Amino acid sequence: MAPLPFDPNDPPARPPSACADYLMWSMAYRLHRDHRSSADGFCVTCVPGQFSPCIGRYLAVRGFLTSRNLPDLLPASERL
Ligand SMILES: [Zn+2]
Repeated sequence: MAPLPFDPNDPPARPPSACADYLMWSMAYRLHRDHRSSADGFCVTCVPGQFSPCIGRYLAVRGFLTSRNLPDLLPASERL
């Protein structure tokens, strides 16, 4: 599988220049930030106690990839 064009654990807040949909990237970034992992491995937003990566995180990474027209590059760590 090809490497992702960004770090899925620390994506840039600003859409990359190759981004085809800046709004989708920005929404995915906000979703990614909101569903970050706490120190004990749980999502800080999903309650009660959802392990990270949660569905919000999964959707955020899908959003990043779709905004770059790369929906098939979803890493195994972000698959449900
Ligand atoms: Zn979550």
